[in-house]
Amino acid sequence: MKTARTIAEVRHAVSTARAQGLSVGFVPTMGGLHAGHISLVEAARRACDFVVVSIFLNPTQFAPGEDLSTYPQSLEADLASCDAAGADLVFIPDVETMYPGNALTTVSVSQLTDTLCGQSRPTHFDGVCTVVTKLLNIVAPDKAFFGRKDFQQLTIITRMVADLDIPVQIVPCPIVRESDGLAMSTRNQRLSAESRAQAVSLHAALTEARDQIRQSHSPATEIIDAIEAYIRLNAPDGEIDYIQIIDPETLCDVETTDNGVLIALAVKFPGARLIDNMLVDSEPRSQ
Ligand code: AMP
Repeated sequence: MKTARTIAEVRHAVSTARAQGLSVGFVPTMGGLHAGHISLVEAARRACDFVVVSIFLNPTQFAPGEDLSTYPQSLEADLASCDAAGADLVFIPDVETMYPGNALTTVSVSQLTDTLCGQSRPTHFDGVCTVVTKLLNIVAPDKAFFGRKDFQQLTIITRMVADLDIPVQIVPCPIVRESDGLAMSTRNQRLSAESRAQAVSLHAALTEARDQIRQSHSPATEIIDAIEAYIRLNAPDGEIDYIQIIDPETLCDVETTDNGVLIALAVKFPGARLIDNMLVDSEPRSQ
């Protein structure tokens, strides 16, 4: 496995691979890698001949007062896990390389960014879309792999590459969870033992809500109230940012749960804001 710190090095390595007829897969990350990230690298390894991972803590997707300065970083361990998962190249640019300071361009997707996390993080997705566009232009992969853990991000990026004719296939990958159900996240390590124990209720509430939807197709507001009550009771350290039931394509709120829906939530614990979601497919009503 090689590492590259400049854009020129990445372009050279990728064009060398392409000259050998290899297909290119790409996994963008912010570091602090865990098994969720590594599952994306493994998916890229299975689907493509040459696998590029980027590790870049992108400052433009953090608003002032958010956790940029305390975001966990573990570069040496990250490189070892990328190597073990079969990555060929890891791009580790510094901020100056990605943002030399004279950029006048921001990539901004409308509508899909107004809901869910966009409500409390109004500048977040501009930062994400701009950096992902730049990384896709630098690496120029055939396929790029994104986790469903960040479902809204995945939806926005899929739309962005379609709208901008960026020649890449966005590949969605499943959420990887701890054994008790908590969605893996770099931020989980910042939870106190107490909050960590309470955080499991996010997945438990989603699972119960999914079962309730499957059984009774209750109206969305009823399900949301039940999730809220469950989290208030079982995660008293958590402050609910949002709980929404939405159409997984448009990200618009739904009133009924008869068709396939996505339940998405964000809860702020001291030290870490956690997000999670669950797709509920449109199975026939149980008898
Ligand atoms: P991040 O480093 O948080 O920007 O995440 C990089 C990529 O890893 C994104 O596509 C995330 O959706 C994905 N990811 C993060 N956590 C998980 C998880 N628990 N399961 C699957 N993918 C994940």
